[in-house]
Amino acid sequence: MNTPIRVRFAPSPTGPLHIGGIRTALYNYLFAKKYNGTFILRIEDTDQNRYIEGAEKYIKQSLNWCNIPYDEGPEKEGKFGPYRQSERKHIYKEYADKLIASGNAYYAFDTADELNAHRKDHETKGKTFIYNWHNRLKLKNSLSLSSQEVKTKLANGDAYVIRFKSPKDETLHLTDLIRGEITIDTNILDDKVLFKSDGMPTYHLANIVDDHLMEISHVIRGEEWLPSLALHYQLYKAFQWKAPAFAHLPLILKPTGKGKLSKRDGDKLGFPVFPLQWKDPKSNEISKGFKEEGYFNDALINFLAFLGWNPGTEQENFNLEELVDAFDLKRVHKAGARFDPDKIKWYNHHYLQNRSNETLASLFLPILKEQIADTSSAAILHNNDYLSKVVSLIKERATFVSDFWDLGHFFFVRPTNYDAKALKKAIKEDTPALMQELITLIDGIAPFSEENLQNTIKSWINAKEIGFGKIMMPLRLSLVGAMKGPDVFAISALLGKEETIQRIKNLIT
Ligand code: GLU
Repeated sequence: MNTPIRVRFAPSPTGPLHIGGIRTALYNYLFAKKYNGTFILRIEDTDQNRYIEGAEKYIKQSLNWCNIPYDEGPEKEGKFGPYRQSERKHIYKEYADKLIASGNAYYAFDTADELNAHRKDHETKGKTFIYNWHNRLKLKNSLSLSSQEVKTKLANGDAYVIRFKSPKDETLHLTDLIRGEITIDTNILDDKVLFKSDGMPTYHLANIVDDHLMEISHVIRGEEWLPSLALHYQLYKAFQWKAPAFAHLPLILKPTGKGKLSKRDGDKLGFPVFPLQWKDPKSNEISKGFKEEGYFNDALINFLAFLGWNPGTEQENFNLEELVDAFDLKRVHKAGARFDPDKIKWYNHHYLQNRSNETLASLFLPILKEQIADTSSAAILHNNDYLSKVVSLIKERATFVSDFWDLGHFFFVRPTNYDAKALKKAIKEDTPALMQELITLIDGIAPFSEENLQNTIKSWINAKEIGFGKIMMPLRLSLVGAMKGPDVFAISALLGKEETIQRIKNLIT
């Protein structure tokens, strides 16, 4: 590839960034890094009615948490800035004027009421009102009015918009890197508004002008923008600019595979659809974030990379560098990608196993503090070695760090009550006497290691010719409080001799 690769992620700050947006950013980032290109963040905030306070900050924090840094963007000015469209608004009018001068656009003076009346009228006839070649001469614009009338209106400051003059009877041949060739008949297109009466460009004009001025080589964005592609192509043609290459990413579908994944699906089914928690500034409503729900950023990224792409091999676990290496736009699917909440849990489990015990212990610490800070076990909070060992024993069964307490509370607090069913099964008439013997046996074990415990207790059971369960069940129950947990000898070794003996005594007295 000769031209430098420059791609952009261009969100509108209209609310929290859905994971579909993160995936778009990720694919842009991977593509840029693969070809030593530049990844740009551009904030498309020209629609003042939809602007939401805090959304831009949220977007930047999310990209940061997901480890998708941008090379140019707000607060990282390169030579193509500013990167916020509201700070570029002086640029766009000139381009709209150019289109008028070249006959590719026109002034339209129809008021909102007039247009609504047309829409209603069409609706009652079962039709849809489209402003284009077939009716533009009957509407109020610089094509239908005399040039004198137009001049007067402009001089009077009458409100107007600038519309693109979409041609009649042309066939457009568009290319999408994922979908291939797309043919569009221009007769079905409407004359989209490019410039609004509030002096701001619409998305279409600002987007094309900025992509051109920022020398974007590839536009990689969600499938919902595919219907705009015909207009965008025509705008490039009208400006006589070289169009970038386009790639439209597949939709992210609901877990059922039917329909687009929405915020409501997440609320209903109990999983997040946003990277970070979001508090709506108006309603104060809180939407869950992957981060706060205990997902790891690298797990989310690995999961999202596979939501619409695969490397064509069996390998499913990729870190960011490996993704950069393996990523290929040609392997992005056309069909929608089903969001599977179990799959991201699977990834989280995997990434949790790969975190060091020390890291996991430090993540577990705040939870532990909440549970035991005011208890007699609190000293353990300072014993990093102990915490890491606990984590090493329980992490295999954990998907989230927040599972650790359930899986390992008995390493920190003695059982005070015992699972009733297990008690019935484990405690027989001869249990107290056997446990007394066990206590004596344990007391003599030195050094008090997992291996010595296992060898000594097993040979003793064998020599006594009794079933293993007769000893192992009450022993586990005494240490854990229930018939669960990791290897009982490992638990005992970590708890230590004194604590093990005390817990056995507690069970039988
Ligand atoms: N501002 C648009 C959005 O919010 C950008 C679409 C595009 O990438 O062209 O998604």
